[in-house]
Amino acid sequence: MPARNQKNIRLLIAAGMFALPVALPAQTNKPAVAPQPAHHAMEPGGRWQVHDPRRPQPQIVTPGATFSQGAPAPSDAEVLFDGKGLGKWQTDKGENAAWRTQDDYVETKSHGGGIRTRGRWADFQLHVEWSTPNPPVGTGQGRGNSGILINNMYEIQVLDSYKSEVYPDGQAGAVYGQSPPLVNASKPPGEWQTYDILFESPRWNGKGELVKKAVVTVLHNGVVVQNRCELVGGTDGINSAVPYYSTSKYPPPHPPEVFIELQDHPGPDRFRNIWIRSLHLAENL
Ligand code: MG
Repeated sequence: MPARNQKNIRLLIAAGMFALPVALPAQTNKPAVAPQPAHHAMEPGGRWQVHDPRRPQPQIVTPGATFSQGAPAPSDAEVLFDGKGLGKWQTDKGENAAWRTQDDYVETKSHGGGIRTRGRWADFQLHVEWSTPNPPVGTGQGRGNSGILINNMYEIQVLDSYKSEVYPDGQAGAVYGQSPPLVNASKPPGEWQTYDILFESPRWNGKGELVKKAVVTVLHNGVVVQNRCELVGGTDGINSAVPYYSTSKYPPPHPPEVFIELQDHPGPDRFRNIWIRSLHLAENL
């Protein structure tokens, strides 16, 4: 071996002797990072992945006893369900809604699609009460899962999140896959809970360009869990436009008038006292 090469090898070994002790602490001082969930798209902002279980759990807040529970509809509201039939609801094929009703509630059916309103509203205030099975059935996302779907595109999650941890952007009160609730204000399974939802529809201009994102505010049992949250698009997993675990995106332009749908997961969850009132924002712009 030429002397020059021997010298180079000695230099490399020496460099390695010095380099190793320096390099190792730099690596071992790094905080432990949980493995990234496989196959999950990154949410805008690049901090968390869709349905990232590493995201901090929302703080638990015990809500007040009733808030808007049992609230009678205001005079300008349209009552969507008060226990007296499902005439305001239909299937996705326009057929009469056939979920089971009893007393003042309607119960989800696990197959055959959700039920959606026959009416549509551009920007609205929605009151709805819901409860999940007691004792709980299933775990995680299988525990009392349903949802308030808007136009079959945007979901406010319904789930039994009482002492049941799941990925934060999939808990009760989440804009599914986009925005965890600010706090976890869940009541125990079997108890009636309230959502008061303010929704502003997205708007497109005549060229098909998005000029206003959808915005939602949600009070869960009287506690603000979404505060004018701007949706980054349709929520994942509702339809093929935004597949499960994928990055949200807006659908092609749609009219601002949208329908409300109750999601058809196994539950069985119950809903009651549903009313809606238009905010008439367009007329006041
Ligand atoms: Mg759901």
